[in-house]
Order: sequence, then C-alpha cells, then structure tokens
Amino acid sequence: KSWAQCGLSAKVLDVIKKCGYEKPTPIQAQAIPAVMCGRDLIGIARTGSGKTLAFLLPLFRHILDQPPLNYEDGPISFILSPTRELALQIYAECKKFCKPLKLRVVCVYGGTGISDQIADLKRGAEIVVCTPGRMIDMLGANNGKVTNMRRVTYVVLDEADRMFDMGFEPQVTKIVQMVRPDRQTVMFSATFPRQMEALARKILSKPIEVLV
Ligand code: AMP
Repeated sequence: KSWAQCGLSAKVLDVIKKCGYEKPTPIQAQAIPAVMCGRDLIGIARTGSGKTLAFLLPLFRHILDQPPLNYEDGPISFILSPTRELALQIYAECKKFCKPLKLRVVCVYGGTGISDQIADLKRGAEIVVCTPGRMIDMLGANNGKVTNMRRVTYVVLDEADRMFDMGFEPQVTKIVQMVRPDRQTVMFSATFPRQMEALARKILSKPIEVLV
C-alpha cells in the first residue's frame, strides 16, 4: 500500500513526504481507509506503530470536507489522551499539518494554569487535544462560553486502556456522551481488556476492529 491510495489531499501528502514517511505503517494501511469511509474503529496498536497518524490523517480530511469554523464555534474534533505527555506528542504531530492546511489545534491538559489554555480555546480551533479532567473543567468554565461540543463530529480516544487504568472512564463517558450521537468515534488501545468492552459498546457504533 502507498500513500497515494489513501485518498489524502495534496497538502497532506506534501507534509508526509517532508517528514520522510515513505509508506503507511500496517496500522495506518488498515485503519485509514476504514476511518475515511466514516466508520467507527477500534485499533489495537502500541506507541511506535504510527497510530497517531492513523487517526489524524482521516481527521484532516473530515475537517476539510466541512464548512469553515466561525470564531465562536467550538471544535470539530477532540482527541482525548490519558496523560499530558501523550497529549503534547499528539499536538506536536498535529501541528506539522495544521499550518499548511490552515487549521488550528489547541492542547489542554491539567497540572498547569488554566487561563492561557482558556484564551487559546476562545480564539477557536478545529482540533482540541485534551486530557479528560481538564476538558470537563473547560466545558464548565465561564458558563460554557469557553468551548462547547455543538460542532464536534469526530472523537478520538487514544490509549484507552491507560485511560481506564487511571480511572478516567467516568470523565471519558461524560464528555463523549455530550457529543451528537451521529459523530464518528475512533478508539486506540494497546490492549483490549474485558472491562473495556462495555465502554466500547457505549460510545462506538458498529466499529471496525483492527489489530496489528
Ligand atoms: P506513534 O505510534 O503514532 O506514536 O508513532 C511513532 C513514530 O513513528 C512517530 O515518531 C512518527 O513520527 C513515526 N511515523 C508515523 N507514521 C510513520 C510512517 N508511515 N513511516 C515512518 N514513520 C512514521
């Protein structure tokens, strides 16, 4: 499989080339076409497999197919991460593409001051990378005037098993259930323990499963 077969825009292909990513990794080759078709997905893949681009590249396509964002709109997509470190890694990968695509990404995570992150969110962004607790704080901040879920149609849960281990399931469920039911939801996890099946059933709709 080559990048040319993945249905990506010329600008996205350009960045991929500049990054030196010669061909899709196995998880990318399997997940990207399924997600591009609009399907929900459970991807069982570890860090290092290329899972980040497996959910980011279809996301860019998803956003570029939509009417542009107004200043006061909330994001079109958010990506939930269990930790600040992972959130920042996803953010860094995303930023490489956002500039040429003229998209905005904001990263919000706990353990640090909230006011700069509030200002970032208020400026508007198509994509928000976040940790669950801080995202809930943001949704409640300033009577809901900081951000909202009204335009969200694409949700990613990354490292879902770690999210589970860290006890974030209630927050994750709460956030995801604020999003319209016809959203597209993509979940990545290194493992798929029994107790995660209930969460998957609750938030995914007829998911395709990909295992590498
Ligand atoms: P991830 O599993 O998403 O954390 O990605 C691991 C690393 O692989 C990241 O540093 C990416 O920059 C890199 N990467 C992602 N996709 C590819 C690819 N198709 N070819 C080579 N490297 C890649």
